[in-house]
Amino acid sequence: MTYSALADEKLRQIQETGRARVLAIETSCDETAAAVVEGGRTVLSNVIYSQIPLHRRYGGVVPELASRNHVGQVGAVVRQALAEADTKKDELDAIAVTSGPGLVGALLVGVSFAKAFALGGGLPLLGCNHILGHIAANYLSHPDLEPPFTCLIVSGGHTHLIEVEDYARFRLLGRTRDDAAGEALDKVARALCLPYPGGPELEKLALSGDPHAITFHSAFNEGKGFDMSFSGIKTALINRLYTMEQRGETVNRADLAAGFQYTVNHTLTRKAIRAAITAGSGSLALAGGVSANQNLRGMLSAACAKEGIAFYCPQPVYCTDNAAMIGAAAYYQLMAGERSELSLNAYPNLSIFDEDQT
Ligand code: AMP
Ligand code: MG
Repeated sequence: MTYSALADEKLRQIQETGRARVLAIETSCDETAAAVVEGGRTVLSNVIYSQIPLHRRYGGVVPELASRNHVGQVGAVVRQALAEADTKKDELDAIAVTSGPGLVGALLVGVSFAKAFALGGGLPLLGCNHILGHIAANYLSHPDLEPPFTCLIVSGGHTHLIEVEDYARFRLLGRTRDDAAGEALDKVARALCLPYPGGPELEKLALSGDPHAITFHSAFNEGKGFDMSFSGIKTALINRLYTMEQRGETVNRADLAAGFQYTVNHTLTRKAIRAAITAGSGSLALAGGVSANQNLRGMLSAACAKEGIAFYCPQPVYCTDNAAMIGAAAYYQLMAGERSELSLNAYPNLSIFDEDQT
């Protein structure tokens, strides 16, 4: 039997039985991750090898170092994921891998590994969108959650408000016009001399600051639409910081951090709640790395409770990059009969909206 025939037969079995034990691989940025997920919702293992210590001295991810490190780690991480799931290769039903968006060299490591693994085992291969993975992280933490729901995706590279109409159908409601929320938090953290990655460090510093002592205003964000902007307030904070330093004024870094975090989270909350009310699904889910921010989770949760909207967010371990979320997203695509060819490539600008495809 050819590889294609074997993969088609496996895919047919998945669709017929609704059962799929999926090995998922994620190498889009600075985490080498592998997981075994059953039926899209049950995590049998979730192994994450973080490269943060490697990139910290450079203040951000160095793409070439990330790719090389993925090459060194991916085999061991996959082996560990299979061992922890007590799963042999021939007990798997499919291989899923993040094929974009992300750093092209980093993505290629996972894609190449997954292609070889799929070919060797005669298993269907599925290239998955990283952003769909972040959305699907909610399915892992909330077995009752099903589309339709409104989703706020906030990561280092994306800030989108979307309506998840079905497992594979999305409608864009709003997006950032410039910096992603995570990117703005990271850049402000860097200006405040905090170590990489800045988001969680800024959150810690903000705990001892007054969020209303120094405020940042954006007329655009106060507007009626669902689009957002974070670049202007980021520049306002950096200018303020440098002016204070030049004048020899004492800089209260904790107040700056708290004020900035408050402004970003207030904007995200206000836009997300209005989008959820307009879309009318009655449910709002949070996704992406910034969803680990406790202050944002608290603000959204309180605002949802006030409006009678059900609020969902993933457990912290599924918020930042991981492969379990890719295994969750993959299940619904496999059930829809999707599989990738062995010619699968890495797509650094892959979008969840057709009109954005590059
Ligand atoms: P992602 O792009 O989904 O991999 O998520 C990474 C982004 O999430 C980076 O911009 C991080 O700074 C940000 N991030 C992670 N944890 C937190 C946190 N606790 N608070 C704010 N931002 C965070
Ligand atoms: Mg991510």
